[in-house]
Amino acid sequence: MQNQIVHESISEMKKYAKALQGNKNYVAKKTAEDPEYFTKLAQGQNPKYLLIGCSDSRAPPNEITETDPGEIFIHRNIANVVVPTDLNINCVIQYAIEHLKVHNIVIMGHTFCGGVKAAMKQDSVGGLLDLWLNNLKLVYEKHQDLINQLENEDDRVACLAHMNVREQVLNVWKNPIVQKSWQDGHPVMVHGWLFRVETGFIEELEIEESIPNNLSKVFKLNFKPTQPQPKFKQQIEEKEDERARSPSIRKRFQRMQSRLETEIKRLTITLQDANQEVEKEVVEQVSEVLQKDLDFTTDDN
Ligand SMILES: [Zn+2]
Repeated sequence: MQNQIVHESISEMKKYAKALQGNKNYVAKKTAEDPEYFTKLAQGQNPKYLLIGCSDSRAPPNEITETDPGEIFIHRNIANVVVPTDLNINCVIQYAIEHLKVHNIVIMGHTFCGGVKAAMKQDSVGGLLDLWLNNLKLVYEKHQDLINQLENEDDRVACLAHMNVREQVLNVWKNPIVQKSWQDGHPVMVHGWLFRVETGFIEELEIEESIPNNLSKVFKLNFKPTQPQPKFKQQIEEKEDERARSPSIRKRFQRMQSRLETEIKRLTITLQDANQEVEKEVVEQVSEVLQKDLDFTTDDN
């Protein structure tokens, strides 16, 4: 038993070491083609797409699209799901649109997806995973009559993977950041792909939901203008001026100033017989404390 564990551990370590050796080979190959390759890559990224795909190791986005590092901004999770409250995916979407300025978002599902397959079964796969798969089950429930007509399980998985892509495209459209991109003059398009593991080809899905206008009115959002209109801006400035001249702030300031002067006078009288240096030091300290108090009160307003 122990020998078996040792043997398995060594075998796993070898696989791990192979990955690091693979990296050395990769660097050697790239620098042989272009000695400046990594220096150029370090200067920044300018991806044209955001791809949301499945974590499945058989669907590596760069490899199957023959793209290089720096060309696709990628987010992956189990079964390429866009959950509206997922902080992680929402940060990726916001960064891709607002900072990287991508114009295309691709949802990529794939055939033989383990997540999709598990979602069609009733066997539990564990607490958190079951929760996550509920996102897929919702899609399955919606289309089960169509999917269950297919005899072959692989076909049923492919069909649900396809339906899931359509649903996630819609979820991307429902996203406020994506919707707002159109109003901000930076229109983002959303596409659906199904990667066929068995052939290596990507099928571009014809999805009527690719057009934002087809999004249900229930989810359509109207945004307030980002930049204040000139008249509105003027009103804000006038209000700020008014606030600065406010009698209550002025009174408070005068009150603090008067308190400061009184405190200094009192201390000067108390310490009139003391050493001149000590007196000076104490007065300075009190002044400093009161001035801080005064600054704080003024800032606070
Ligand atoms: Zn998958």
